[in-house]
Amino acid sequence: MANIVLFGPPGAGKGTQAVRITESTGLPQVSTGDMLRAAVKNNTPTGIAARKFMDAGQLVPDQIIIDLIEQRINEPDAIDGLMFDGFPRTIPQAVALSKITQVSHVIAIEVPDEKIVERICGRFSCTKCAAVFHDIFNPTKVTGVCDLCGSSEMKRRADDNETTVLQRLAAYHEQTSPLAEWYEQQGILSRIDGDREINQITQDILAALIA
Ligand code: ADP
Ligand code: ADP
Ligand code: ZN
Repeated sequence: MANIVLFGPPGAGKGTQAVRITESTGLPQVSTGDMLRAAVKNNTPTGIAARKFMDAGQLVPDQIIIDLIEQRINEPDAIDGLMFDGFPRTIPQAVALSKITQVSHVIAIEVPDEKIVERICGRFSCTKCAAVFHDIFNPTKVTGVCDLCGSSEMKRRADDNETTVLQRLAAYHEQTSPLAEWYEQQGILSRIDGDREINQITQDILAALIA
């Protein structure tokens, strides 16, 4: 069982890299952000409870997240491990995860704060296949058309605005970044410079996973 954690501030490129790592490793991507957005869209009790925190750029309470992960880990495709994207984000979440399964690699994608706002504010994704693009740094080949599936329905996230991003970044520094040291002490953390070309970052992550 090899579980991987992709760790980093909002906009670090976790989702972008996750898709590529899934192609190489076969490990299913588990994004708590995507799970929460689906719950909000479907108006489930979890979605209703989570929404106000997400809109404010604050972390959703730990127990909501831990419940989602416990369910996800019991699904059949989790048997050979999962790749967590945006989870855990607090020490209590990491402790809860350690009680249900083992993590073999934590990949910390490092991007300086001053780059985060421009990354987040230019982000958009395909409604159909969820591919992630950027107005300037990773545009579609044909304007408005998804490179992967050809759909022309693109969307932007409600929380991808400058005000909320600054709040999300503050939450990252206060509540999430201490986890890097927590995992470093366990000898499973690899720090990757995320302020480079997307392909170079993928290569370094894949190298770290076999090291
Ligand atoms: P990003 O990709 O920009 O880092 P995510 O899609 O991972 O953002 O998360 C969006 C929002 O969902 C967060 O701002 C937070 O409110 C909530 N969220 C996602 N994952 C977690 C988590 N593991 N713990 C607490 N809140 C979370
Ligand atoms: P996260 O999942 O960590 O929030 P994303 O993968 O959604 O981050 O990336 C945030 C935005 O930055 C997207 O618009 C994406 O296209 C863009 N991006 C991702 N990696 C890079 C990179 N290495 N250089 C420049 N822009 C990038
Ligand atoms: Zn698409």
